[in-house]
This record gives sequence, structure tokens and C-alpha cells, in this order.
Amino acid sequence: ALEIHDVHKSYGAHRVLDGIDLTVRPGEVTVVLGPSGSGKSTLLRVVNHLEKPESGHVSIGGELIGVRRHGDGLKELSERAILAQRSRIGFVFQNFNLFPHLTVLDNVAAAPVATGKLTRQEARQLAKELLERVGLGERVGAYPRRLSGGQQQRVAIARALALRPGIILFDEPTSALDPELVGEVLAVIKDLASGGTTLVIVTHEIGFAREVADRIVFIDGGKIVEQGPPAEVLDRPRHERTRDFLRKVL
Ligand code: ATP
Ligand code: MG
Repeated sequence: ALEIHDVHKSYGAHRVLDGIDLTVRPGEVTVVLGPSGSGKSTLLRVVNHLEKPESGHVSIGGELIGVRRHGDGLKELSERAILAQRSRIGFVFQNFNLFPHLTVLDNVAAAPVATGKLTRQEARQLAKELLERVGLGERVGAYPRRLSGGQQQRVAIARALALRPGIILFDEPTSALDPELVGEVLAVIKDLASGGTTLVIVTHEIGFAREVADRIVFIDGGKIVEQGPPAEVLDRPRHERTRDFLRKVL
């Protein structure tokens, strides 16, 4: 399980995460909703230790992320150890972040080679399979600039899968896309969700959230306001702030 335990994070005097507790069980799909500035991206970034919490901690499968126990407290891991942990956590961003000078195939094959997990040959074979899976088997030799946004984002998903992560975090994976390209990316994520991959997805696509989520977590002001199955949080929200948010996005 992914466990986020009492995480606090501030920027100067601005408290962005204010005591977040969250458990995501293996195979579970959690969708995080919340207004702009509520701390959703920061929460995802804390999970793979791109942001260090001031207090609280994150663990995956019982292993602390970014720190180890040291006396009564926690001590930061080495950069190398943090990178090794990060390679087991997939992250897909709003803006794809593909390598422009590498083909689609090499974008996907690069990380397993760089981390020493696979030989170049093995990585290219795996990359082909993953690109088939996201519907891009025909475009392996293309450069990212030749692809639509939806295709680029599907490459980014294949790239995240190439490290065989135990969990994949998505931060608004479709919000930079033209509306007609959103569906193809959501279809790939749905396929992962039904295949049992553990996912945490920040999105404003409420219809999609309703379909894929085992659980919806609504965040506002750095706190979890409410969480539960889609039928509860989306259809019978208990808090005024959730109702207000849903009125605005639906
Ligand atoms: P959005 O829906 O717009 O993506 P979000 O819920 O992802 O919003 P965050 O990006 O987590 O929100 O940011 C939460 C708050 O923290 C915002 O007020 C933001 O301005 C602030 N913030 C985020 N990163 C930094 C930073 N590096 N330095 C200072 N403030 C930051
Ligand atoms: Mg964000």
C-alpha cells in the first residue's frame, strides 16, 4: 500500500498541505479532486519526494520514501537512494516532457537502460510492446514533435510503464490536450485501471473519475475534506465545499 501519514508542507508562511493522511491499497484507483491551489500537485510530488514534507512521511509497501528512521526522527536518504526509489514510482505530467531528440521508441526504452534494469535490446523489445499497448505500435520511429498531444501523452504513459512501477501518479494528464484528444488518453488510463495497476490520478474529468475511481479524495486548503466511493462523494457530497466545487466543474 501507499501510505501518506500526517504530511505537512509549507512554502514560507503558506501552508499547502495541512495534515494529509491517505492510504491507497495495491490495485486501487484513487482520484484526487480539488480547486486550483488546493495542494494536489504538491501531494503527488511529496509521494516521490520531489517535495520534502516538513513533518509526516510517505511509505510504499512499508518502505519509507526519501528518508529512513534515525533515532526518534527521520534522516534524508542519499540522492542515489532517492532516485532508485523514484524509479519505482511512475509519474505522468500534464506536459508530457518527452525527450525531443529521441524517437518514440527510445523515449520509452531510455530509462530501463539508464537504470541498469534492462539491456538495450530488452528495453527496445519492452518499449515496442508497451507502445502497442497504448496504440502507437506504428509510430515507434517518429519524433515527439510529429505526434499529436494525445499521442505524446500516450508515449509518456508507456515510458512510465517501462520501469514497471508499483504505482503510477498522474497529474492532470489531459488538461493540456485539445478536447478531441482527451478520450484516447483516458482510454489508456482506464485500461491500466482495469488491469490492476495502482493509480493516483489528479484530474478535473469528473465523468472519467466516476468510471475509474475506487475512491475519490476531495482536497481543499491542503486538507482532505472528504473521501469515499464515487457514488458517495460525487452524488451525495457531505460537505458544502465539495458541493460548491462540483457545481463549478460539472
Ligand atoms: P492546480 O489545480 O492549479 O494545479 P494544485 O492543487 O495542484 O493546483 P499546488 O500546485 O499543489 O496546487 O499548489 C498549492 C499551493 O502551493 C499554491 O498556492 C501554489 O501557489 C503554492 N506553491 C506550489 N509550489 C510552490 C513553490 N515551489 N513555491 C511556492 N509556492 C508554491
Ligand atoms: Mg496542480
